[in-house]
Amino acid sequence: MTKPVVTRFAPSPTGFLHIGGARTALFCWLYARHHGGQYLLRIEDTDRKRSTDEATAAIVEGLDWLGLQPDGDIVYQSHNLDRHTEVAKALLDSGNAYYCYCSKEELAEMRENARAEGRPIGYDGRWRDRDPAEAPVGVDPVVRFKAPKEGSTTIHDLVQGEVTVSNKELDDMIILRADGTPTYMLSVVVDDHDMGITHIIRGDDHLNNAFRQYHLFGAMGWDVPEFAHISLIHGADGAKLSKRHGALGVDAYRDMGYLPDALKNYLVKLGWGHGDDEIFSTEQAIEWFDFDGVVKSPARFDFTKLEHINGTYMRESADDYLTEALSPFILAEFGIDEAEIPKDKLLAAMPGLKERAKTLVELAKSALFLIAKRPLDLDEKAQKLLHSDAREMLARVLTALDLVSDWSAESLDAALRTFSEAEQLKFGKVAQPLRAALCGTTTSPGIFDVLQVLGREESLARIADQTMK
Ligand code: GLU
Repeated sequence: MTKPVVTRFAPSPTGFLHIGGARTALFCWLYARHHGGQYLLRIEDTDRKRSTDEATAAIVEGLDWLGLQPDGDIVYQSHNLDRHTEVAKALLDSGNAYYCYCSKEELAEMRENARAEGRPIGYDGRWRDRDPAEAPVGVDPVVRFKAPKEGSTTIHDLVQGEVTVSNKELDDMIILRADGTPTYMLSVVVDDHDMGITHIIRGDDHLNNAFRQYHLFGAMGWDVPEFAHISLIHGADGAKLSKRHGALGVDAYRDMGYLPDALKNYLVKLGWGHGDDEIFSTEQAIEWFDFDGVVKSPARFDFTKLEHINGTYMRESADDYLTEALSPFILAEFGIDEAEIPKDKLLAAMPGLKERAKTLVELAKSALFLIAKRPLDLDEKAQKLLHSDAREMLARVLTALDLVSDWSAESLDAALRTFSEAEQLKFGKVAQPLRAALCGTTTSPGIFDVLQVLGREESLARIADQTMK
């Protein structure tokens, strides 16, 4: 019987949840879901100097926001150090590892000589078969793993295909440092084994490590998991994604007003494809996801595409979901507290508003007219539109609208059309100043939507505010 699939996302908590890390987590999650397996989270926090609790919290929060909660308790690598040491000892006992007493100077000289002679600059294995009785006194040794010296190692990577390295390139790596602490390479293998990981899905910057890890699994007599090394994300210019291309942290995308499901949809598409499908649900992604669709070459991050996908998700999102999601953005943009937001009005306006906005930030901006208190602050364009002729005309519009008793789109439409005909004005010449007076801006949903959502009293009052000056 084949083992149930278990994947893991194993970030080092040294900063935020990187957008590339989020994609790795997503692939791990999708693959596990696709096979009805488990997706686990391991925080690789053994580098105590670089790991912070804030970074761990940011990673957990970012994954949470994306809906990528792990299936079991979070594993903290630092809690397993005794176990890693125990495995190093077992490797010593079985003859797969040995003590090495080389000094720093010796190692430097070794590298120099290798470089000069054009050999690989790895450790030359000088303590591999040496009698431990020759150990210098007072030197704390490191423990090295005996890598195979002859032949080659081949990994059948689910993304990269068959990849082979000559074993000459694998020197005897350190698994326990002189102070007795395990190295990253050992910890990863022990944890992956102990967590029952069947598929290691990660960035292809770890492909080289896989060859070394492969032999460690073997030396312990453990099954080697499948590997899937996915290409890194690049910027639009083809260079590895970095700060100068834009935001790198998932939290920044949340703050820019992207919806988690849209970002997820975009990230799945980044390096994986299912025909020409561009927009699909999480359920579809789970159903379709497999490594066949993962491309080997680096994917390029494309903000325009992300915006497009986000806009589509916004339009398709439920009005009440967007109304709720908007509160933090209204607070951030305009300092208006949730309690002061007229949610009923916002909800009523949402069908018109969401058609135009590509992000929640844009949506918040377009909703400001609803929330703003009278008299409105006019933006520059609105001020320009409301010159004295326009304000006089608004006074007459006010009289005309005051006569509309049932404040419906049809009656308002009829009243305004009659008015523009009587004034011999194009409809736009009436609607534009009216919009400026009602919204304080020159862009908004359709004018009838605005009038309706604001309601009779508020609309007439806002128009009156601009006619009186
Ligand atoms: N902790 C490593 C990183 O953040 C990942 C290790 C792995 O996936 O094996 O790059």
